[in-house]
Amino acid sequence: MPKHSTHSNAVRRIVLPSGRTIEVVRFNQPQQTAVRPLHVCPDCDCDMVQPHDWTESEDGGWELSLECPNCGWLETGEYDEHQIASLEDELDAGVELMLADLRRLAHANMASDVDSFIAALQCDLVLPEDF
Ligand SMILES: [Zn+2]
Repeated sequence: MPKHSTHSNAVRRIVLPSGRTIEVVRFNQPQQTAVRPLHVCPDCDCDMVQPHDWTESEDGGWELSLECPNCGWLETGEYDEHQIASLEDELDAGVELMLADLRRLAHANMASDVDSFIAALQCDLVLPEDF
């Protein structure tokens, strides 16, 4: 999501216990906008959006090209360090999930291989000439 630099003044009316009404004006209040997490696709809500190209900008931010692997949504924009740090945290968490799945899969495959080998030994299907 591109940076927003829109500012607005906020006026708030407050009724005092005496019954008088006063107005409180806040000048140059940054507009309150929900910042979309960069790892979430705005089109399909998939939470696996990934950067496929990035360049550091002169103001310390980053220009990223993001892509959704689910629907193919693409966006290139400049993002601040907080958005980048949040995206990095999500990507790191995604890598950890994939590694945990890989370990579980490798363990399940190894257990299946051992079970098959034990069954083959019990049925005398493993002979010395197999080695
Ligand atoms: Zn998508």
